[in-house]
Amino acid sequence: MSEPEVVTVPEEEILDVEVEKDVLEANRKLAEEVRKALDAHGVKAIDVMGSIGSGKTTIIEELVKRLKTKYSIAVISGDVATSIDAKRILQHGVEAIQVNTGKECHLDANLVKKALGRLDLSKLDLLFIENVGNLICPAEFPLGAHKRVVVVSVTEGPYMVVKHPMIFAEADVVVINKVDLAQAMGVDVDKLAEDCLRVNPRAKVMKTIAREGVGVDELAKALEL
Ligand code: MG
Ligand code: ZN
Repeated sequence: MSEPEVVTVPEEEILDVEVEKDVLEANRKLAEEVRKALDAHGVKAIDVMGSIGSGKTTIIEELVKRLKTKYSIAVISGDVATSIDAKRILQHGVEAIQVNTGKECHLDANLVKKALGRLDLSKLDLLFIENVGNLICPAEFPLGAHKRVVVVSVTEGPYMVVKHPMIFAEADVVVINKVDLAQAMGVDVDKLAEDCLRVNPRAKVMKTIAREGVGVDELAKALEL
């Protein structure tokens, strides 16, 4: 097979790099403030990232069902435009706040700080933050959470990890979801898991069928919940 020509440019030639540096630095400071506020109240926060349709909300719902008697839980749901996810969470009797980002394809620490202002942190133990469905920029925008989870579904194909190495490198836990569909999709789950560990040897890689609750107890353990 012949190799295609590959075009890259050095970082300083990327057009928005200076703007981006300032934004990332501002975000980093706000993320520290968020972390301090959470720690001051003993709230553990988990940032859940992944594409649209990977199963982020379903996984959060399944964790909430299992953990809501043990912890006081709230969920911040990030989305470009809808309130679908927060409505789903509210059905489980825990607090949910929807954050709509408008044009932005990721949550940032400022949005999380604003959402935290609507919650009584002194009454909370555990906070799930569902990021906007995207695997590129959430990696660059830490939110002050204690753990970062990336959800990837086998329905997204076999190359999700190798094509998004940055976000998997940032993850504490990777969830490979919908593993019951792997054969139909022609995706090798073990290969996906190997790809994860290659970019991030310290990641815990979990396999789930979230809609059936399969693997969710193990995931809660991996999150030390
Ligand atoms: Mg969702
Ligand atoms: Zn974005």
